Amino acid sequence: MKLNIKDLSLNEFAAHLARHREPAYRARQVWQWLFQKGANSFAEMTNLPAPFRSRLDGEFAISRLAVTRRAESRDGTVKFLFSLPDGKTIESVLIPETKRLTLCISTQAGCAFGCAFCATALLGLRRNLTSGEIVEQVLETSRTLPADTRITNVVLMGMGEPLANYAQTVKALEIMTDTTWGIGISPRRITLSTVGLVPQIRKLMDETNVNLAISLHAPTDELRARLMPVNRKYGLKELMDCCRALPIPRRKRITFEYVLLRGVNDSVACAQALCDLLRGVRCKINVIPFNPHPGSRFQRPTDESIAAFQQTLYQRGVQVNVRRPRGDDIAAACGQLQGEQQGARHVRRTMAAEAGGL
Ligand code: SAH
Repeated sequence: MKLNIKDLSLNEFAAHLARHREPAYRARQVWQWLFQKGANSFAEMTNLPAPFRSRLDGEFAISRLAVTRRAESRDGTVKFLFSLPDGKTIESVLIPETKRLTLCISTQAGCAFGCAFCATALLGLRRNLTSGEIVEQVLETSRTLPADTRITNVVLMGMGEPLANYAQTVKALEIMTDTTWGIGISPRRITLSTVGLVPQIRKLMDETNVNLAISLHAPTDELRARLMPVNRKYGLKELMDCCRALPIPRRKRITFEYVLLRGVNDSVACAQALCDLLRGVRCKINVIPFNPHPGSRFQRPTDESIAAFQQTLYQRGVQVNVRRPRGDDIAAACGQLQGEQQGARHVRRTMAAEAGGL
């Protein structure tokens, strides 16, 4: 099979051209065609010499994701189910708001981290996405938009753990943010969400300018480890020490995500403990009421407990947002992405594990 040209970085492609004695500026030209003009064939690249185009055509494929299903919610949210060349599936979600159009993208097919409340966790890790497959979610969903509409924001909050697929994710971020040959979305408008892989968080903050979101979900190690097995590797002290030491610019804050689960982590006492934990960290908190999905025994919190939780944080001076569910009628809300329908066997197994753990 031919290599997908979109899986190369600009430098890798430039090195390839140098080996074939092609002028270096050709790399940028090809990259502009691929990522700014969304070309799907080398034949379209009309400012390049024909022999060069046909040589590229012999060497590389320009792979695309296939849209297998597209579902539109009554609130305007659109969920795309994409098939990868090997038949595995991933999801992306377009979320229109008044002043922006946000795309939520996946970085892995499935996920290995096993968070107790998350639908993607039921799949286990299928495989990492290549950088081309990560970027292609932006290109392919853009193709469905009217000519005057652009994706303004990207969140890496779909399926998978972006920092467990670090190299491909950072390569994709470079393509998404470059303004001379790439898609040209400002890193200030991109947010990466992680379960909290401490060494990779430090590296990411060194190497990129994207916004950081950390899934916290509990104020104590005991509770967090039950909800998020990763806490046994990187506990709260290590995670908070890392956050306090990050070189976050003055006007920026770390976002902490906190999924509210009824009767599990939604008490006022939890909210108070959360404030204590976050003391001295420049942050804001996104409270996400649990979005139910088949196969989970957790429940959405009551409106009263959401309000009390929010109020407690607010009174302690913590910046807090409660996220409205978007696209929940098409299973596109946070944590509902699951790629393909699950076999009942897997769901039962996970439910049994949850029941034992909580
Ligand atoms: N692996 C990354 C990014 C993917 S999940 C991470 O964990 O941060 C994006 C967010 O959705 C995470 O905060 C996750 O905890 C949350 N989430 C997962 N399942 C959910 C559900 N059923 N309801 C609400 N939020 C959920």
